[in-house]
Amino acid sequence: DFKSEYFTMSEEDVVRYVKTEMDFFDSNEQLSCKEIGDGNLNYVFRVKGSSGKSVILKQAGPVARISNEFKVSPDRNRIESEILRIQGKLAEGFVPEVYHYDPVMNCMSMEDLSDYTIMRDALLKKETFPQFADHITTFMVNTLLMTSDVVMNHKDKKALVKDFINPDLCEITEDLVFTEPFFPSLRNDVFPALQHFVEKEIWGDEKLKLETAKLKFEFMTNAQSLIHGDLHTGSIFIKKDATKVIDPEFAFYGPAGYDVGNVIANLTFAYMNGAVTMKDQQSREDFLHFIEQAIIDVIDLFKSKFEKAWQQHASDQTAAYEGYMEYYLQNILRDTAAVAGCELIRRTIGLAHVKDLTSISEEEDRAAAEKACLTAGKTFIMNRESYSDGTAFFKVISDAI
Ligand code: ADP
Ligand code: MG
Ligand code: MG
Ligand code: MG
Repeated sequence: DFKSEYFTMSEEDVVRYVKTEMDFFDSNEQLSCKEIGDGNLNYVFRVKGSSGKSVILKQAGPVARISNEFKVSPDRNRIESEILRIQGKLAEGFVPEVYHYDPVMNCMSMEDLSDYTIMRDALLKKETFPQFADHITTFMVNTLLMTSDVVMNHKDKKALVKDFINPDLCEITEDLVFTEPFFPSLRNDVFPALQHFVEKEIWGDEKLKLETAKLKFEFMTNAQSLIHGDLHTGSIFIKKDATKVIDPEFAFYGPAGYDVGNVIANLTFAYMNGAVTMKDQQSREDFLHFIEQAIIDVIDLFKSKFEKAWQQHASDQTAAYEGYMEYYLQNILRDTAAVAGCELIRRTIGLAHVKDLTSISEEEDRAAAEKACLTAGKTFIMNRESYSDGTAFFKVISDAI
């Protein structure tokens, strides 16, 4: 019985669930189901019918998949389904369609995007996506600026802030992104060749630690925009002419630069992987050039689209004062640099690593790529006030390797 009490479903349960609780398939269709989740937190099932139709069902478990130390409220599944609907309105076509949400079973169903590839996997295969920067900046400007006090009625915005208080998932970010990577926490996972470098350059750097404290408290208190909260390349489905953002369960009202910074850092991981592993001169140059241009464009297109949307949609009277938009946008770029820095460091030495680094098979190559991520990360955090265009962001990355 799916109506009375929550339990975590097996593939067989999901087939029964889809048959009895949803009207997606015809009643005479044969259904098959496979668990395809590869994330750290949830169970993702793909259900296929004999007619060829298919649907994705995502269920939140009571603890994280990566470690049962993380007790995360299954309410995150409500947040995810509601945020996907909001984002789908603000940035049409950039998220999967949501079909239903079930607050008892803590699951939701959505459009099957199996004809897309997870961007991290595609980048590891050195595929290139020249339209990515254009797509992701439209998504970010539409979801971030349009949910801010600059555009929204301030009381309506406060109601949204309240709907998306997300304490468990925020705690994960506060711990794993802003706290643990910066001291020898037991949950860190440092590649042995980097141990000394990390002890000296990260854990031994008091100035860096002070800056991360400032950033953590800003993350907790700056209710600027309804952010995605986990916008890495594993949360992006891509093909040549289209981009879809998934997995917004970390969403809450936080600093807009958190999303932009995650995109920049995760493009950087792909860059560092290519820089140390690609042997063929021409393909290496082509791939690195694609990432370089994507990083530059993410910043510069974000800025130009943001300015344009501000001109069109800003509703607050004081937001129109001379110079305020420039001030506001520069603060987002500062937060972008800082968050890119934290993400570069935490994905290298913290609990949750990225395949871009861990899949590098030669020890020396991996150490070089990881050191470059840490160096760029530190620079971004310490000098976060000084970057105002895409070229300046990219220079930090190219100088580090
Ligand atoms: P988690 O929150 O556990 O990280 P994700 O939402 O990132 O879960 O999904 C995990 C994996 O499931 C994705 O990497 C992808 O392979 C698959 N997946 C998720 N949503 C879809 C979808 N709409 N269509 C096809 N596959 C999906
Ligand atoms: Mg996958
Ligand atoms: Mg995920
Ligand atoms: Mg997730």
